[in-house]
Amino acid sequence: MRKIAIMGAMPEEIAPILTYLGEYTTTEYAGNTYYEAIYKGTSLVVAYSKIGKVFSTLTAATMIEHFGCEVLLFSGVAGGINPRLKIGDLIVATKLAQHDLDITVFGHPMGFVPGGSVFIETDSELITLAKEVAMELGKSVQEGIIATGDQFVHNEAVKAAIVSNFKADALEMEGGSVAVACNALNIPFFILRAISDTADTDASFSFDEFMESSAVISAEFVMKMVDKLVH
Ligand code: SAH
Repeated sequence: MRKIAIMGAMPEEIAPILTYLGEYTTTEYAGNTYYEAIYKGTSLVVAYSKIGKVFSTLTAATMIEHFGCEVLLFSGVAGGINPRLKIGDLIVATKLAQHDLDITVFGHPMGFVPGGSVFIETDSELITLAKEVAMELGKSVQEGIIATGDQFVHNEAVKAAIVSNFKADALEMEGGSVAVACNALNIPFFILRAISDTADTDASFSFDEFMESSAVISAEFVMKMVDKLVH
């Protein structure tokens, strides 16, 4: 059975996951805490990275290279861009981009650096599994493009630019960088987010109100995916 990494960015995103684990051990490594447990006979490693692309890359790479995880599931919250996404709705990333990666002055598209690609696709088998879980739970999970950058977006103009550059449906601060790490290390990965705000002028208030409940919605769904993976 594959060793599974489950990561979030903030403590609130992994707290609901830890409640499923029963007994776990903690290991301090590279400035972070990693929670390890045997769940239904399968090894799990759980961690929150801290916010942003750099910390999330470090944590994803550590879970794979140091802890030996062979599949990675990310659970967390995001700002919705596509109007069909309401607070609490789930979005599964089909592909991700870094919306703030900008060397366009040299003629490259936004999100592109030589040797990389604008988009990184997630694992199609994990998306299929998510659809099965959604069906069984009678829940709707939308698929879409997620744009990642090192800023909390709370502005219509920034949102509009991200839509025009990437046709993104949601935005957050870690998925695109976790994608880079998993893609480079050949690890199938899955990015799930529940909407906490709509990245508009009220976003910080909406985030404060709904972050915790949305984090739980995402975490519970991810644990149903884990239940499928360990069978
Ligand atoms: N209130 C927090 C900071 C939250 S930053 C504090 O003070 O510590 C926002 C986090 O939620 C990031 O991890 C990001 O991935 C996600 N997120 C939710 N809504 C977002 C938005 N509108 N823009 C960018 N990231 C968002």
